[in-house]
Amino acid sequence: MKAMDPRILTPAMVRIVEATDMTAHERFFRLRLPRPLRHAPGQFVMASIPGIGEAPISICCGPGDHDRLELLVRSAGSLTMAMQQLGAGDQMGIRGPFGTGFDLAEFEGCDVLIVAGGLGLAPLRSLIEPLLAERNRFGRITIISGCRTPADELFRDEMRAWGRAPGTRVIRLVNDTAHLPWDGEVGLVTAPIAGLDIPPATLAVLCGPPVMYKFVIMELAARGLAHDRIFIDLERRMRCGIGKCGHCQINHLTCCQDGPVFRLSAVEALPEALA
Ligand SMILES: Cc1cc2nc3c(=O)[nH]c(=O)nc-3n(C[C@H](O)[C@H](O)[C@H](O)COP(=O)(O)OP(=O)(O)OC[C@H]3O[C@@H](n4cnc5c(N)ncnc54)[C@H](O)[C@@H]3O)c2cc1C
Repeated sequence: MKAMDPRILTPAMVRIVEATDMTAHERFFRLRLPRPLRHAPGQFVMASIPGIGEAPISICCGPGDHDRLELLVRSAGSLTMAMQQLGAGDQMGIRGPFGTGFDLAEFEGCDVLIVAGGLGLAPLRSLIEPLLAERNRFGRITIISGCRTPADELFRDEMRAWGRAPGTRVIRLVNDTAHLPWDGEVGLVTAPIAGLDIPPATLAVLCGPPVMYKFVIMELAARGLAHDRIFIDLERRMRCGIGKCGHCQINHLTCCQDGPVFRLSAVEALPEALA
């Protein structure tokens, strides 16, 4: 039996080189790694502060042979609230990368439809970056991103820049303008799907709150997209990241090892997947 690499369970303390508030609840971190992670888009790390806790956080930058790691952390509980206080020069613990990711080779030549709800844009940015970096390898790219109000919008300037790439369309929506200036659309992320040209070879990638999946999947099914052409990024509470603790079990699968990126056709029959 092959011995397990102890680094999988021991966090490396990594220096934060940039920390900025992106919204009132989300803080963006850029960390400098001692060595490249060589992650796949869609993977996550277990991020920690010693003595406070550890949580799965999606890698929000594209892969590559670089020493940068970017994370977007929403304040939810004890750890993620403590992380909002960290700044440049501080350290956080990192282990990973964990989980399945997207295989860019499968996207080659295909139209890609990306649907992000709220914080779902963070993991999907790790896919959008490499798609746009090698723009000629892929077909048309459509990014639909929705959030509650203009004040909740993530990666605002980047989304505008993505929309200027050739063959790339970005549709930004809010549920409610909350009387703030807004130059995008108003409505739910499902609304623009009906007006899109979605050839059968399109690959769709969804990440957002659980309620979003049901309605986006219904729209895509109505447009005839096969369920093995739809990827969903699922979130579960998890502790270990290596499929041992069982916290993130979805029937016979573990979200941390078999996911978080799943093909819809692989999980749609599982009672616990989209419940
Ligand atoms: C694969 C994966 C990727 C993630 N990526 C990100 C990310 O990029 N950025 C980010 O901010 N958060 C992300 N999360 C969610 C993040 O892990 C939780 O918000 C975090 O564990 C909360 O830890 P805490 O100690 O601050 O709060 P806790 O005190 O543990 O919990 C606070 C509240 O959050 C709820 N909660 C905790 N974990 C989850 C979860 N996994 N799903 C739903 N509710 C939860 C609890 O029930 C509680 O109500 C991700 C989760 C997973 C599974």
